[in-house]
Amino acid sequence: MSLSQGRDFLAIPGPSVMPDRVLRAMHRGAPNIYTGDIVDLTHSLVPDLKAVAQTKGEVAIYIANGHGAWEAALANTVAPGETVLVLATGRFCIGWGEMARAMGINIETIDFGKRDSIDPDQVETALRADTDHKIKAVMAVHVDTSTSVKNDLGVVRQVMDQVGHPALLFGDCIASLGCDPFPMDDWGVDLMVAGCQKGLMTPPGVAFVFFNEKAKAARAKMDRVSSYWDWVPRVDPEYYYQFFCGTAPTHHLYGLREALDMINEEGLAHVFDRHAALAGAVWAAVDAWGQDGPMELNITDPAHRSTAVTSVRIGAPFGTQLREWTEGQAGVTLGIGLGMAEPTDPAWHGFFRIGHMGHVNVPMVMGVLGTMDAALKALGIPHGQGALTAAASAVAGPLHHNVKGGE
Ligand SMILES: *Cc1c(COP(=O)(O)O)cnc(C)c1O
Repeated sequence: MSLSQGRDFLAIPGPSVMPDRVLRAMHRGAPNIYTGDIVDLTHSLVPDLKAVAQTKGEVAIYIANGHGAWEAALANTVAPGETVLVLATGRFCIGWGEMARAMGINIETIDFGKRDSIDPDQVETALRADTDHKIKAVMAVHVDTSTSVKNDLGVVRQVMDQVGHPALLFGDCIASLGCDPFPMDDWGVDLMVAGCQKGLMTPPGVAFVFFNEKAKAARAKMDRVSSYWDWVPRVDPEYYYQFFCGTAPTHHLYGLREALDMINEEGLAHVFDRHAALAGAVWAAVDAWGQDGPMELNITDPAHRSTAVTSVRIGAPFGTQLREWTEGQAGVTLGIGLGMAEPTDPAWHGFFRIGHMGHVNVPMVMGVLGTMDAALKALGIPHGQGALTAAASAVAGPLHHNVKGGE
């Protein structure tokens, strides 16, 4: 017997659940792409995207996934033969660095491992050692989706300023935009990349590069930028057809407009509080299960945990068994462990992730946790009791005045 008939639930860290409102907004015929509504709609997205990113800078929109935004960021600012410093706290910044290397850029990497956030002291040492300022950009991920660590990039900026290093500061907010606060301008981040399919609740296919005056100055000094990735025409409202270097991603734009309307209606501060409250439920449940069994949150310090995704250690083969049970027997898809062990290593089966980003509320998250509780019992995996009570208390208790409608 399987209990999986009913509405499937995707609890992976992106693509995230698409709201019915977003899907309905996309369910329409193709518009004229040269004049009229779609042009106005595109322009209307720009201030709302900047508001979510908490920046007064520019935003270039690409028909791409997050990897496209990674490439766009580098293509506009760092030339082959120049050097970047990669601050690795999981698989994603390492991947961004590998892309830089493939583009002919020299990379220096500080690897903080799989369970820790960026250590500012090590960044300071690396920057002080760079006396002739070879490093053109410092690259970091705000929330690394593999480890679920959250980095404070404001602290990285402080270190750069203390040392007096002129490099640009890059942030990857592909997993965190619209989930965890990222005050781009206040933190002094010069360039930030994001995608639409995680916190922004839109199907994968549109990505963003936000950038400030300092990043613009770096772009102006580039000898050559490939025309598809060049951000200059993409931020010039006079040349709408250049915005996308060709046909606009019409239906993604409709969907994104609706998603941003939903964020605006809820209020960005409430969106962040909702993510924090629901993440608290997940952490409380995992802590309770871990009281008497192998389950453990990958990131021990709550201040450095993402509120969008939780990476869990449970030991092989339990991670894979749990995921297969929740998907096959119950209709809940959990995320695979990513970057924690090689897929050929038996240890790979000891990790999984829970996505709780974007369009999620209490029954969705409690449903995932309840399903996991059933899986642990069905599979005979040792676990502590009281996880669901702990999760309910986390939602109801200290955070009750923070969730929408509670004030
Ligand atoms: C998802 C993700 C990416 C990659 O995005 P794609 O759309 O899969 O190319 C990069 N960085 C982070 C932090 C992510 O979460």
